[in-house]
Amino acid sequence: MTMTDDSSDQSTPNPQEYEVVIIGAGPAGLAAGIYARRAGLNCVILEKGVPGGQVLTSPIIENYPGFAEIPGMKLMDLMADHAKRYVEIMEGEDVARVVRAGDRFELTTTTGRYLARALILATGSYHRKLGVKGEEKLAGRGVSYCATCDGFFYKGRKVIVVGGGNTALTDALYLHSLGCEVSLVHRRDSFRADMHLQESVSQRDMSVMWNTVLEEIIGDDEVTSVSLKNVETGASTVLPLNGVFVAVGEVPSSQLASEIGVEMDSGGFVKVDMNFRTNIPFVYAAGDLSGGIRQVVAAVHGGAASALSCFEDLMNPYYSRRV
Ligand code: NAP
Repeated sequence: MTMTDDSSDQSTPNPQEYEVVIIGAGPAGLAAGIYARRAGLNCVILEKGVPGGQVLTSPIIENYPGFAEIPGMKLMDLMADHAKRYVEIMEGEDVARVVRAGDRFELTTTTGRYLARALILATGSYHRKLGVKGEEKLAGRGVSYCATCDGFFYKGRKVIVVGGGNTALTDALYLHSLGCEVSLVHRRDSFRADMHLQESVSQRDMSVMWNTVLEEIIGDDEVTSVSLKNVETGASTVLPLNGVFVAVGEVPSSQLASEIGVEMDSGGFVKVDMNFRTNIPFVYAAGDLSGGIRQVVAAVHGGAASALSCFEDLMNPYYSRRV
């Protein structure tokens, strides 16, 4: 993905013109679409897969106001249906390139071209890898980054969940409820997960290996064991098992932002002001991409606020008029 000056590709059909193109249809992108359209802006959402983002893999969401308990997939279906009342969501549209074309941004996707006066980046984040031996080779063959997606295959089998955050503990509870024999492996001596999750874990028959890191994931065609190291004692052990669920956080999908020159912090999260403006005029970022608390409610806030900032910048209404 590159951003250069005024180099329109004439080989593809005429671009579709919008005031705003929103990239990503997770909670931030969907909220941005609703708010942008309701502000009267002509916009479209480009989504490389299907709407929903990471939340699709959350078994249960219990902290999105108005929904005491709702599967992530259901919540995102509702949100996408709501957004579609206002804005078109182009699914399977992966943005390959952005170029500056005068006072417009020109985007080339897998299937078309778009021109926009403003961009809202809501590209989310992806699962961080452990980077240990065997992880890449055995991904999908015993190594998983999504308990909701793959957990069913491990019913009655022995698994570990690596990590100490909300995702790790939620995944451990989910796998335990499926009937897996679950142990949590965490590199420190305390979890960062919410207390109510820690209490739920402690009430169940799950062991926790504190101060322990994974050294290697072992197996030929599928995972058969792991090598673990206690960082306090230095002792290594080999643990036979069937599955390794990695839940060690998220990495922002900031490649596009970086290539169009948007400023980022050391973690790769896009720097935004309190109104979700980036350092580049008419480029905004919201949701996991812009860091902060990675919660649905925060992503929705970012999406809405970025769309309203975009409206102010494009329309310059009386209340935001600058001298
Ligand atoms: P997270 O909060 O960043 O936690 C990542 C965990 O992985 C931490 O315990 C960290 O250890 C550990 N870790 C990181 N790199 C590691 C490595 N290389 N090797 C071993 N362990 C490593 O990530 P998350 O749990 O995916 O959550 C992401 C965001 O989504 C958070 O804001 C979270 O609150 C939110 N979330 C919310 C819910 C919910 O509300 N129900 C559910 C899921 C996620 P240290 O603690 O030592 O740093």
